[in-house]
Amino acid sequence: MKLFHFLLKDVTHKIEYYSRFSPSPMSIKQFLDFGRENACEKTSFMFLRKELAVRLANTMREVTLLPANLLSQPSVKLAHSCFLETLIKIRNRHNDVVPTMAQGVIEYKEKFGFDPFISSNVQYFLDRFYTNRISFRMLINQHTLLFGDAACLAQPKHIGSIDPACNVAEVVRDAYETAKMLCEQYYMMAPELKIKEFNSKTPKKPIQVVYVPSHLFHMLFELFKNSMRATVELHENNSEGLPPVEALVTLGKEDLSIKISDQGGGVPLRKIDRLFNYMYSTAPAPRLDLSQTAVPLAGFGYGLPISRLYARYFQGDLNLYSIDGVGTDAVIHLKALSSESFERLPVFNKSAWRHYQTGPEADDWSNPSSDPRDASTHKNNR
Ligand code: ADP
Ligand code: MG
Repeated sequence: MKLFHFLLKDVTHKIEYYSRFSPSPMSIKQFLDFGRENACEKTSFMFLRKELAVRLANTMREVTLLPANLLSQPSVKLAHSCFLETLIKIRNRHNDVVPTMAQGVIEYKEKFGFDPFISSNVQYFLDRFYTNRISFRMLINQHTLLFGDAACLAQPKHIGSIDPACNVAEVVRDAYETAKMLCEQYYMMAPELKIKEFNSKTPKKPIQVVYVPSHLFHMLFELFKNSMRATVELHENNSEGLPPVEALVTLGKEDLSIKISDQGGGVPLRKIDRLFNYMYSTAPAPRLDLSQTAVPLAGFGYGLPISRLYARYFQGDLNLYSIDGVGTDAVIHLKALSSESFERLPVFNKSAWRHYQTGPEADDWSNPSSDPRDASTHKNNR
């Protein structure tokens, strides 16, 4: 018990110390140059030893600002204690942190219902928490892939987890095929895929990018699952069959974009924002069973928000444009140049702290449903 208290005090002290540093974002080009030319295990280790601690400590400071009711959920507690252990032993066995946290949020919602203030705090926190986790795994993967035993066995042309010539259409097809298998398991059918490429730099050449293929795969897989589910659910009884899902891969001067279009009936504009909410899904919540490997097609509601984090992590973005009654276009934007793909990292500072303290602002636009007689009371009740 004494030892535990000693460690805890030590950890708290270390979190305090390391959270005073800001994380140092790396660009894909820097990852690449380091991995190719001056790969030195010792330098990499020295960098990680401080950088991982800094990134972790910045997040740990934010964890404590979450609502007490949420922190006391068993799954959230579990994720929390996992992270403490990490700082002591620098471990990287956290494959289940995302579903575990998601489960915590579901448990919380079931018990306490939906509260817009808490939901926006949870949203803000989870975006930063998961981004941090993505960055953490990126650094660890680079190190272990470059210097680990399996270094040369893995993809020989890759630099760690980065493919210097990632063929985008190939990843699109891969992600489609994987989603198709899942979709056929659930619905016994799946829409076809049509791919088009538009390369404005070197016309007719396949579009390539310096990127982490697993990140790209993750985003595309989520988008395909969503498009397939929407398409099948709307058209399954159509005699004409399913309309295809279309993918357009484009390369401009600055951006590399991938548009996935479906005719699955779309989503009304009013609901678009909430699709990126971790607390929202229209599919029935699947039960979390970490021992089971079967992947549900939908239901945790974090396909879109996590995919957007992957896109934003290297300065890209993911947007949904939907036409209600018709279908949806989902667009992934990436930086075409690896020298511009800098990591986008959360920093724990005063303005982050303030996010958790301030309540929702009074609306400064008229609200059609509010009764004008209530206006004066509303103003006072801020
Ligand atoms: P999940 O698929 O687990 O529900 P997502 O974050 O992937 O979580 O999507 C959230 C919700 O957004 C879905 O439940 C669905 O209602 C809606 N959605 C996403 N993509 C589409 C699409 N292409 N067409 C229609 N609805 C969609
Ligand atoms: Mg989904």
